[in-house]
Amino acid sequence: MATAVYPGSFDPVTKGHLDIIKRAAKINDHLIVAVLNNSAKNPLFTVEERVELLKECCKGIQNVSVESFDGLTVEFAKKRHASVMVRGLRAVTDFENEIQLAQTNHALMPGIETMFLATSIKWSYLSSTIVKEAAYYGSDIGKFVTPNVEKAVNEKYALIRQKKDPET
Ligand code: ADP
Repeated sequence: MATAVYPGSFDPVTKGHLDIIKRAAKINDHLIVAVLNNSAKNPLFTVEERVELLKECCKGIQNVSVESFDGLTVEFAKKRHASVMVRGLRAVTDFENEIQLAQTNHALMPGIETMFLATSIKWSYLSSTIVKEAAYYGSDIGKFVTPNVEKAVNEKYALIRQKKDPET
């Protein structure tokens, strides 16, 4: 059985990520969405929160599971006996980083291949950062994320605003 790993920060998961997840799940027997425990990036959501949001979003897709991991992605993939690593490509700006990452991973673990899926045009501009920025300034993010994620992001920023200015 071919297992694929789709690694990322997912801080938070967007409809762009979900598009890649659904498409990758169709062409692999089992897809593990792997959430990087990257405190260095100072994420908005804890790794547990990111996993929970992803699990809610993916519960209708039978062959998808969600886990967190620390350290090198290839090591995690090897532990799970995965032969494929999935990444989404939005634009040429993603390409340089992604090809370097794929080549490094191949050098580290030749048995694991990186599979790039081109983003659907509809989501090509979308990133977790844009979602967070829009929400921070009070914009409606319902177009970019699922309702559970929208609620969680808005609650986070309400809490942050309240901490900054307890009077409001
Ligand atoms: P990372 O910190 O690893 O870049 P992200 O959560 O930002 O984590 O992205 C994880 C993966 O999802 C990457 O392969 C990225 O290119 C892809 N991705 C991000 N946004 C989109 C999108 N809008 N459409 C398709 N793929 C995306």
